[in-house]
Amino acid sequence: MNRKFFILFGPPGAGKGTQAGALAERFNLCHISTGELLRSEIAAGTALGAKAKALIDNGNLVPDEMVEAMIEAKFQSVDGVDGFLLDGFPRTVSQAEALDAMLSKNGESVTACLSIMIPDSLVHERIAHRALLEGRADDARDEVVSNRIQTYHAKTEPLIAYYKSAGLYREVNGVGTIDQVRERIFQQI
Ligand code: ADP
Repeated sequence: MNRKFFILFGPPGAGKGTQAGALAERFNLCHISTGELLRSEIAAGTALGAKAKALIDNGNLVPDEMVEAMIEAKFQSVDGVDGFLLDGFPRTVSQAEALDAMLSKNGESVTACLSIMIPDSLVHERIAHRALLEGRADDARDEVVSNRIQTYHAKTEPLIAYYKSAGLYREVNGVGTIDQVRERIFQQI
């Protein structure tokens, strides 16, 4: 198999979900958002959803094993695409190592880590705006948003060095219009 695995990386509110649709369509990729998958589990009232809900509502990460299992199931079940666009995964170095391990079992590997960067001040602004549009519980409270930003810096940001050292890191400026940011990402693929 010669599937592509793109990681869409960036702080909460950077625009990963906004950009993912156009990228997935243009390059025939299956878009997987771990946040969306978890929210569907919560909405469906599953045991996994119940376990995830309190963590997500407080701005904490769910356990690595939980998202790793969801991702691996998708890799095995989705057909007819040229690859995958991972949005919100990996979010810890341990998840990145698990991803490398699950891909290498099939002789596959990460193609590139596409990073959308915005300053923390803009994270607050964008999430406050999104809270009005989408009504997500984890967007509504300022202390939860602050915790998510802190979690990003502590646990997710180390992935930048991880993918830089693998020669896979490509960064674009996430400040600008949706079209501008999309064009910047296209140029990096
Ligand atoms: P955002 O990019 O705005 O933070 P997401 O929809 O990607 O939103 O994620 C929402 C929440 O779902 C996260 O704050 C976290 O609690 C949980 N989550 C999503 N992906 C992961 C992951 N890979 N590992 C752990 N928790 C995750």
